[in-house]
Amino acid sequence: MEAIVEKILDKITQYDKIIIHRHVRPDLDAIGSQIGLQNLLLLNYPEKKIMVTGYDEPNLHWLAGMNYVADEDYQDALVIVCDTANRERIDDQRYQNGKELIKIDHHPDEAPYGDISWVDPQASSTSEMITRFSREAKLLMDVQTARLLYAGIVGDTGRFLFPSTSSLTFEMAAYLRQFSIDFSDLSRQMDTISLEIAKLQGYVYDNLEIDENGAARVTIRQDLLKQLKLKETDTSAVVGAPGRIKEVQSWGVFVEQEDGGYRVRLRSKTIPINEIAKQHDGGGHPLASGANSANLEENDQIYSEIQDLLKKSQK
Ligand code: AMP
Repeated sequence: MEAIVEKILDKITQYDKIIIHRHVRPDLDAIGSQIGLQNLLLLNYPEKKIMVTGYDEPNLHWLAGMNYVADEDYQDALVIVCDTANRERIDDQRYQNGKELIKIDHHPDEAPYGDISWVDPQASSTSEMITRFSREAKLLMDVQTARLLYAGIVGDTGRFLFPSTSSLTFEMAAYLRQFSIDFSDLSRQMDTISLEIAKLQGYVYDNLEIDENGAARVTIRQDLLKQLKLKETDTSAVVGAPGRIKEVQSWGVFVEQEDGGYRVRLRSKTIPINEIAKQHDGGGHPLASGANSANLEENDQIYSEIQDLLKKSQK
């Protein structure tokens, strides 16, 4: 067994209470790894109290929901944080109130934390890491757990499309697929969008600005979201849309916040853009990062940085 897996397993066996967190604005991998780990531990250690906390994202209710965790629950508890690079992005800041803290993540380890940290930026997803963990530790797996972890892997690899998809990713997915997950239902759930999201996608394609080197951007204002009765978090469903266009190489989706600032979602097909995100109060993966911008001027600045990057790469 890998030393780090053994270390984490040791800690898990030592505690009666374990609380699992993940990042704010959860996606499929955040929820898949968090609740996947909860299910896995409940299955293998039925005598332990295993809880999950964080904002109960309505868009992902079809996948799983959160538990109510009382402040007292943190007393003498082991806290595990999945899929979260830095402390600021951990959903539910009570993570600090446990006795010990474990980080399990696949983002670049820019801001290490935790008494034990298992970070593998080569992994496609934290769900892939949890699957690996279960296999190395020879833990039992069941269909519910497999469904969650599989959804997390599919979500963070863009359905096995992103370059982070490795032979190990397929190995883990193949293992999970052996359990009788309702595979077509899961795929349909991931593929289903509301009419409002479809309209937002139409707006993205209609208003996308693309330069001669493949830099692209679109701005989504609050009035549009209000008109479509969508929340800022719903925009995650359209972030990948520009990437389907042949000419587009790297792009930013600038989403206006209630306070007038912008959440910037950066994506790229091959050229890393996370250094740009880091310069603007953000971070993330080389090809999928997020940043924060104060205003339209900073949006222009970020876009011109993407343009410069692509221009240089052409030379
Ligand atoms: P998103 O556009 O929110 O789906 O984020 C894409 C990736 O960037 C995810 O892996 C996030 O963890 C990361 N990310 C997004 N926003 C930030 C931020 N403000 N700081 C650090 N990482 C971020």
